[in-house]
Amino acid sequence: MSENLLALCYLISSVCFVMALRGLSSPKTSRMGNLYGQAGMTLAVGATLANPSVTSFGWIIPALVAGAGVGLFIAKRIVMTALPQLVAAFHSLVGLAAVCVALAAFALPEAFGIGTVGNVHTGSLVEMCLGVIVGSITFSGSVIAFAKLQGIMGGKPIRLPFHHGLNALLFAGLVIFGTLFVMGQSQELFLIVIALSLILGVTLIIPIGGADMPVIVSMLNSYSGWAAAGIGFTLENNLLIITGALVGASGAILSYIMCKGMNRSLWNVVFGGLGGDAGATSGDKGQAEARPPAKVGSAEDAAFLLSNATSVIIVPGYGMAVAQAQHALREMSDALKEKGIRVRYAIHPVAGRMPGHMNVLLAEANVPYDDVFELEDINNDFATTDVAFVIGANDVTNPVAKSDPTSPIYGMPVLDVERARTTLFIKRSMASGYAGVDNELFYRDATMMLFGDAKKMCEHIIKALA
Ligand code: NDP
Repeated sequence: MSENLLALCYLISSVCFVMALRGLSSPKTSRMGNLYGQAGMTLAVGATLANPSVTSFGWIIPALVAGAGVGLFIAKRIVMTALPQLVAAFHSLVGLAAVCVALAAFALPEAFGIGTVGNVHTGSLVEMCLGVIVGSITFSGSVIAFAKLQGIMGGKPIRLPFHHGLNALLFAGLVIFGTLFVMGQSQELFLIVIALSLILGVTLIIPIGGADMPVIVSMLNSYSGWAAAGIGFTLENNLLIITGALVGASGAILSYIMCKGMNRSLWNVVFGGLGGDAGATSGDKGQAEARPPAKVGSAEDAAFLLSNATSVIIVPGYGMAVAQAQHALREMSDALKEKGIRVRYAIHPVAGRMPGHMNVLLAEANVPYDDVFELEDINNDFATTDVAFVIGANDVTNPVAKSDPTSPIYGMPVLDVERARTTLFIKRSMASGYAGVDNELFYRDATMMLFGDAKKMCEHIIKALA
């Protein structure tokens, strides 16, 4: 394949990736977006393999088979609720790849056309240094994010003494040792830069508490894009630079949007430590015990309240995803609509465990897009609504986010479900949500708890409505 044809293939792939991002921005066009992404990636891999500079397939084919096999196995087995930790794990691999490529380029600069051992071009050394810093931070940060999301590590923020000072020290160390490395090309300094970056990745992510993880996942997504762009510079591969920049920029934009949605500062996300103090929540379990008993109802009670309503707002959350209740929920809302009741869905930006989680599930159940509203478009309507039907959501409704500055979710906008005449909560117990904060709404007079699996409860309500 000629250089020109290769460049054309890469250009077409880049356009496909841009179209993919565009398509994925709305549930209506997301399937098409996915197809563009697959087509772009197939062309990119095919063109790279056909590049005359690839002289041996001895390592490439086994690596391709192994990687595709593992990917296929994971894709078939993964449950939707575990996607965030899978994404975090994949980000860590991008970071690791960036570090490995930089190490290889440093050990064998001739193979990369960037000079000879001990005599690498200064520009390439700077690229390498930046690549390993971003790659190492992405790697260790993503491993911590994975451990937190998988429940291997507790979700509570961990703050070390002088945490911000420590981060600043590590950052200063990176600048000093990075500069010395570029000047002296010493292997020891290179390894010190990697070690400091790995530690910084850990110290940036451990102070992030439960409810703030979505912002961190999207931020690490952005870091992994920049790491990939770094690899592109080292390998002089334009497509990797473009793709990495696309992922890096779109991840940064998503982080910004999520920061706005969560009322957090982007600055704090980048430099670690978002929420309030570790576990210092006024709504924790100790206080829960002093509360009055919650009102518990049955599916029949819920059906009675719902069928006497004129308007209902459904608030889906992570529990709906766990129970895969979206189809039963849609059937229930169809039954209510047949009775002339106005039914709408309110989506919180971080409901579930990944951005857009609820939108995807509702789209899968063929819920009309016109019935689905973002937080800012529907929050005022709770005050004029008869029933707020909260299905497997918790943190996204917790009013402590508005009232208690010591809460880790303080400042996050929440859906004002308590303003509806009645609030129904479907969940299996009184347990707290992802952020580990008790929800005092469960104990209010106008709240009724419906204990059970979300899907089964919806099915029982449908029967009772009939
Ligand atoms: P929460 O985690 O706050 O609450 C979910 C609730 O669902 C739980 O309290 C649980 O209660 C209930 N539940 C679990 N399984 C079932 C089931 N089978 N049937 C019925 N109920 C069930 O979820 P929200 O969606 O309200 O909030 C999302 C949280 O996740 C936020 O804190 C957010 O910051 C965080 N997060 C979001 C990410 C994102 O990108 N969207 C990524 C990472 C974290 P019980 O056990 O009693 O049933």
